[in-house]
Amino acid sequence: MDAQTIFEKSQPGRLGVMPPLSDVPLPSQPPMWPSGMGRQEAPPLPELSELDVLRHFVGLSQKNYSVDTQFYPLGSCTMKYNPRLNERMAALPGFTQLHPLSDPQQAQGALELMYSLQEALGEITGMEAVTLQPAAGAHGELTALMVMAAYFRSRGEERHLVLVPDSSHGTNPASAALAGFQVVTLPSAANGLVDMLALESHLGPQVACLMLTNPSTLGHFETQIEEICELCHRHGALVYYDGANMNALLGLARPGDMGFDMVHLNLHKTFSTPHGGGGPGSGPVGARGPLVDFLPGPLVAKGERGYHFMTPSQSIGRVRTFWGNFGVLVKAWAYIRHLGAPGLKAASLHAILAANYLQELLKEAYDLPYPGRCMHEFVLSAHNLKAEKGIKALDVAKGLLERGFHAPTVYFPLIVEEALMIEPTETEDVETLEAFAQAMLEIARQETAEDLHQAPRHLPVSRLDEALAARRPVLKM
Ligand SMILES: *Cc1c(COP(=O)(O)O)cnc(C)c1O
Repeated sequence: MDAQTIFEKSQPGRLGVMPPLSDVPLPSQPPMWPSGMGRQEAPPLPELSELDVLRHFVGLSQKNYSVDTQFYPLGSCTMKYNPRLNERMAALPGFTQLHPLSDPQQAQGALELMYSLQEALGEITGMEAVTLQPAAGAHGELTALMVMAAYFRSRGEERHLVLVPDSSHGTNPASAALAGFQVVTLPSAANGLVDMLALESHLGPQVACLMLTNPSTLGHFETQIEEICELCHRHGALVYYDGANMNALLGLARPGDMGFDMVHLNLHKTFSTPHGGGGPGSGPVGARGPLVDFLPGPLVAKGERGYHFMTPSQSIGRVRTFWGNFGVLVKAWAYIRHLGAPGLKAASLHAILAANYLQELLKEAYDLPYPGRCMHEFVLSAHNLKAEKGIKALDVAKGLLERGFHAPTVYFPLIVEEALMIEPTETEDVETLEAFAQAMLEIARQETAEDLHQAPRHLPVSRLDEALAARRPVLKM
């Protein structure tokens, strides 16, 4: 593998382009910067031919692992195929060349798109109003908690505790703390679901909210979901739905119908925007009842003279510049319109089917700590392999890289030892699922961890000291 940087490839005097010298005399102009501030020497740019540059960047792109190249079963991340149609729509010049400060009267198409996306997401989640501002899931959580804090303040209620199950995504407690709440961890029941007795014992006049992920991070649907919401409401607490796992529920169940007060969605997960490289995401937040009045503004409303921006009466204000990550909104809109209601429901059903099929193929060779039908993902444990042969979840992950697959999410959720969290999504065919299962089984059948400790052998870097690599990354060879 070519691991040289473009600077290391530089050869003095090598050039990409050689235009003829201009024979037009330069007009004499006053200098554009104060004298003394100009460079004395040329900047140390790499010197390469056009072909060198081309090969360098094509080579880099081929080192990339993505949904476009291979299977990507990273649990909790919904790494599904992102239809190219969405990209085409988001690249339409009418959208890309629209200035965010345009007069809304001259941007009615964009406003209509935002309005209809708000409506569609409200319908999908069972919420009354939706803001498109937050830029990611975690940002949506923070926004919702700020809305809840403002709501309780307006009522003169001092509720400073937020309950978070021990299986929750790390962003949940982090968002609660950032919004000024104190986090209380709820232990899960033996079956991995919410422990009703533990919940009841923690509820009280100081609890603002329960944050719940459903299906849970174990991939299981909370069987007592309505009772959970009722119980919280009876104690004056609100219930927040982490909707990052909505890929399991489209057209099947709605947080609003279950009794939740607020929800966030991850458009970049469920509604098919490429993600994972830190690129723009979107985490719209839906609300019901009195909480609607506190949502960040502006929302898009429909009036007699077309669409306009409006800010709810007790809004917490903006949480994002301009109108959110508009390009992501266009992709989500295109995806929803393309599939329609029946297509969205079919997507979730296929995601659930794919996960259950893989779970069946793997549950003999790996430990399945929380058995039963899963939703769109499931969590295995390598703790038996570790005890018998020293094969840890990390070794399984590295062995998969060697066999051409992206690793599942490992060591999360925290309540499962040696966790391997697998989310196949609906966009993979049965042959791919079986090939992945084959690789997982081959790894489990290894006599010892010895060979896996060498993996991956053919990638740009092999086994790293994970902690050191994160703390002191070597970015230049
Ligand atoms: C991904 C995820 C989040 C956070 O979403 P980001 O867009 O990465 O901020 C929150 N909760 C769950 C369950 C998730 O899977």
